[in-house]
Amino acid sequence: MSIRLRLTLWYVILLAILLAVFSGALFAVFSLSLFSEVDRRLEIRASEVNTSLATALELQSDPRVFILRGGRLTLPTADMFAMPGVFVQVSTLEGVALTRSENLGAQTLAVSSTVLDGVGRGEASYASLSRNSVPLRVYVSPLTVRNQSVAAIIVAESLQPVNDTLRRLAMLLIGGIVLGLVIASIVGALLAGSALAPIDRITQTAQAIARSNDLTRRIEQKPTRDEVGRLAETFNEMLARIEELFRAQQRFVADVSHELRSPLTAIRGNLDLLRRGADSQAALAAIDSEASRMQRLVQDLLLLAQADAGVEIQKQSVEFDALLLEVYHQAKLTTREVKVSLADWDQVQVVGDADRLKQLFLNLIDNAIKYTPVGGVVTLALARDGNRARVSIADTGIGIPEKDVAHIFDRFYRVDKSRAREQGGTGLGLSISKWIVDQHGGQIQVQSQVGKGSTFTVWLPLVK
Ligand code: ADP
Repeated sequence: MSIRLRLTLWYVILLAILLAVFSGALFAVFSLSLFSEVDRRLEIRASEVNTSLATALELQSDPRVFILRGGRLTLPTADMFAMPGVFVQVSTLEGVALTRSENLGAQTLAVSSTVLDGVGRGEASYASLSRNSVPLRVYVSPLTVRNQSVAAIIVAESLQPVNDTLRRLAMLLIGGIVLGLVIASIVGALLAGSALAPIDRITQTAQAIARSNDLTRRIEQKPTRDEVGRLAETFNEMLARIEELFRAQQRFVADVSHELRSPLTAIRGNLDLLRRGADSQAALAAIDSEASRMQRLVQDLLLLAQADAGVEIQKQSVEFDALLLEVYHQAKLTTREVKVSLADWDQVQVVGDADRLKQLFLNLIDNAIKYTPVGGVVTLALARDGNRARVSIADTGIGIPEKDVAHIFDRFYRVDKSRAREQGGTGLGLSISKWIVDQHGGQIQVQSQVGKGSTFTVWLPLVK
């Protein structure tokens, strides 16, 4: 069942319950007041009859005997009180009718002996009768003369007008409820439809994307601050993010293929030269260098793939100063053209993966050496900085242009391949370094001036 139908149904059911309860209460209160109005009229009429007859009977020495003897109550009063639909009858306490209103015709109003016994004791009561299948409300009260019940006054009123009024009211209420519900369902369905229309558009856009693989599509939606507006906005943001990731993925694959192609082409070219009998030493050296470049690239890619897969690094306490010293000696061995020196040195311990940390600092020192002209200096320093260790690798190299600084940690980003003193970079080194720093909960920053040099600074949390 669609949400639209469900919403409309709930709305209509709730409205139906409310209307039914309200109408029921209205009907009950109204009918109660109509019936009590009838009772009140009957009581007034009975008391009028009582007053009028009692005055006449007061003249008799014993009204009860007078009545029992069949003394005629020749009072025209009974008729005087009777109105269409209102009947009056005076009976003996035994139930014999003494006089009655003319509109009763030949009929008498028969009430039970229990009621008449009650009247004998001075009690009035109500009863229900029917006359020519018309329901009557009956009030039986004593005719009291000198504080004595001498006869029964029976006053009755037809309930037909009340019943008619109530029937009309019921029809009106039921008609109103039905009409109200029909209007409510139509309006409810329209409202729910228009509120849910943007969701339909979202679904259609999602389907269109699924069918056409076109991630550039967006939901066209007026910016509203309601739930549906926010959903559309979130959906568009998600699409933008997916598109961005997808493009990055495509770029990455293109970059990888490109980077792998150039060493392969160089190897094949050198193999050709070898086959044609060229200088085998030079060709073999070139092949060796290209093969190691490919090996580095593949290793880097593997590491990045692990990083993307969420592989966590090991966390152990590491003698950080000793580790850096090792990196320093190793770096010193790789170059003679650039002077590698040590500045301040503190003894510190950090938590992390020793191999990865070594790789991180070798990367940074390698870069410093690679991008520093012959005769330059690379300085390594380690110091405590609050509860962190701060390592800086400063070079007197070519520096990084300001516009590139923000990008050098991106994968495959290289400022200008020809700037390196030694070829063979992959553009992945710094992105791996950044990942290692992040994994250790640290921070990496670079400050650089073109022509003067660069300083890479790494902060890592100390062992507590
Ligand atoms: P690459 O393999 O090209 O060195 P990296 O990711 O290590 O890749 O570095 C990205 C780019 O940042 C390099 O191509 C280089 O242009 C620039 N770079 C990195 N370190 C330095 C440095 N110490 N001095 C100048 N430029 C640097």
